[in-house]
Amino acid sequence: MAIERSFSMIKPDAVRRNITGAITTMLEEAGLRIIACKRVHMSKSQAEEFYAVHKERPFFAELTEFMSSGPVIVQILEGENAIARNRDIMGATNPAEAKAGTIRKKFALSLGENSIHGSDAAATAAQEMAYWFSGSEITG
Ligand code: GDP
Repeated sequence: MAIERSFSMIKPDAVRRNITGAITTMLEEAGLRIIACKRVHMSKSQAEEFYAVHKERPFFAELTEFMSSGPVIVQILEGENAIARNRDIMGATNPAEAKAGTIRKKFALSLGENSIHGSDAAATAAQEMAYWFSGSEITG
């Protein structure tokens, strides 16, 4: 299996509830290693840029307001099949549909406040890692 890297963001609802450690533990227990990590507070325009793919969707304003409402933890995860493995441990976007044992099933509050973001493909992972981290911040 291939060793991959993926990008993860622990969202403001989880940071607010002080459960970033519990979420990171679940990522680590899924076999993912945190090779870069920092806490940032996104501006509204950064949130709009980050979620630009959704700009035509009716929830775009709500999503970008929420994502800029408080600090987030951005991370780079490394491990075997890290992109798919991260999506598996995150669970479905809507916590009502997430499987038992996933982060969103355990911690998400709603479809919007769903505690964690993870890259959905290699191209988006590369783009998101490069946007949030410089080479010297990554210690693989
Ligand atoms: P993800 O890759 O599982 O995060 O899901 P998507 O890329 O489809 O959506 C991005 C994010 O937009 C989700 O994680 C949710 O936080 C948010 N989102 C998606 N659908 C809705 C919705 O109908 N209402 C609201 N408020 N947020 C939504």
